[in-house]
Amino acid sequence: MKIFVMAKKVLTSLCARPATFRYPLVPKTYYKNTRGSITIDINRCIYCGMCQRKCPAQAILVTKADKEWKIDRLRCVSCGYCVELCPVKCLSMKNTYSASTQIREEEAFRRA
Ligand code: SF4
Ligand code: SF4
Repeated sequence: MKIFVMAKKVLTSLCARPATFRYPLVPKTYYKNTRGSITIDINRCIYCGMCQRKCPAQAILVTKADKEWKIDRLRCVSCGYCVELCPVKCLSMKNTYSASTQIREEEAFRRA
């Protein structure tokens, strides 16, 4: 009997689609609610520093004097807390990830 169970399993596996996909040849499709990278509409930012103070990973640095907002993407844990609490709603979360990197470098945004 076990031979039939095994044969059925083998035939099912032969006909089924593979459980994996050929990334990066086949690009990953992101879900609507994927928690991706944080982005900012810098022209709306009032440099209140709320996001910097509340970020649990200390990934954000706001410099009011230079009108600069920086994020360390290797620190960010994509919790979305900064997006929720920004008083002017100038932060948002993309549903895609930022490019991978081995260099710890903050990404800076400055008002034009
Ligand atoms: S909380 Fe919003 S307005 Fe305040 S510094 Fe951060 S991004 Fe700018
Ligand atoms: S998503 Fe979370 S960890 Fe990332 S910058 Fe915002 S508050 Fe910090």
